Amino acid sequence: MISSRQKYQMYNPKKRFGQNFLVDDNISSKIVRSLDAGRDDVILEIGPGRGALTKLLVKDYPEFVAVEIDESAVTELKEKFGGLNVIRGDVLEFDFSSVAGGNRKIKVIGNIPYNITSEILFRLLDNISCIDSAVLMVQKEVAERLVASPETKQYGILSVQFQAFASIKHLFTVPRTAFFPKPDVTSSVIRMNFSKELNRIDNAVLFRSLVRNAFSKRRKTLKNSLKDFFEANNIINTDFNLDFSRRAETLTVEEFVLLSNEINSYLRGPMVI
Ligand code: SAH
Repeated sequence: MISSRQKYQMYNPKKRFGQNFLVDDNISSKIVRSLDAGRDDVILEIGPGRGALTKLLVKDYPEFVAVEIDESAVTELKEKFGGLNVIRGDVLEFDFSSVAGGNRKIKVIGNIPYNITSEILFRLLDNISCIDSAVLMVQKEVAERLVASPETKQYGILSVQFQAFASIKHLFTVPRTAFFPKPDVTSSVIRMNFSKELNRIDNAVLFRSLVRNAFSKRRKTLKNSLKDFFEANNIINTDFNLDFSRRAETLTVEEFVLLSNEINSYLRGPMVI
């Protein structure tokens, strides 16, 4: 619980930046502990805001960087934590390779803004060559989609895309009351460990497009949902090693990977997405 005096001290949270500040120190510690990092690791915090996680992170990790879009939050953070390495900017435009040190990969942490959760997740995916892992607070519903199994309502693009490149764990849920202002939904903290070895995907662009197309008409058979995708890419013979009367939601992540690689070896010329 926060007192009205504390509330008064908080500058106006900005809705356009998706600001819901953590006000429960126990939860903050629990999130930071989930990072499982060492003193030599490069830590990148997305959206430090007023520093609920930052104040704990800076104690343990000398190589700490934060990206924050809100100028007034950046000013406040710099005042609070002298010499803090906080970059004012949009994480969606951030160059992750600029902070990855040599062959050391980045550990990402953040209570990320809910209005751009998917964009941030895909941005991380685009940069997995320099990211080791991520501990993120997202809406519970997004967490459930990320870890979903085939044949469930939650299983879809997010599940397949991310499970193909990361092992993902739903760590714990966080009630609305842990934030100011309170969000409309329950949150979850997840951990993603990215690994290039997880699946051998020959053509990541094709994989993404295949998954998107397959789920674009979830109730239909693959034959139906992939028709336009195949036509656009001049794939006439669909004699792949898979039963196309199945629906996307019945395919395991592994089956999507195998199919994608098979299509890739068949593909002539550049892909049409
Ligand atoms: N980590 C803090 C703040 C969470 S609120 C806490 O737990 O209390 C989300 C934070 O992300 C806000 O500080 C918001 O200003 C910041 N933010 C929103 N959009 C952003 C973007 N595109 N790039 C970087 N930071 C962003």
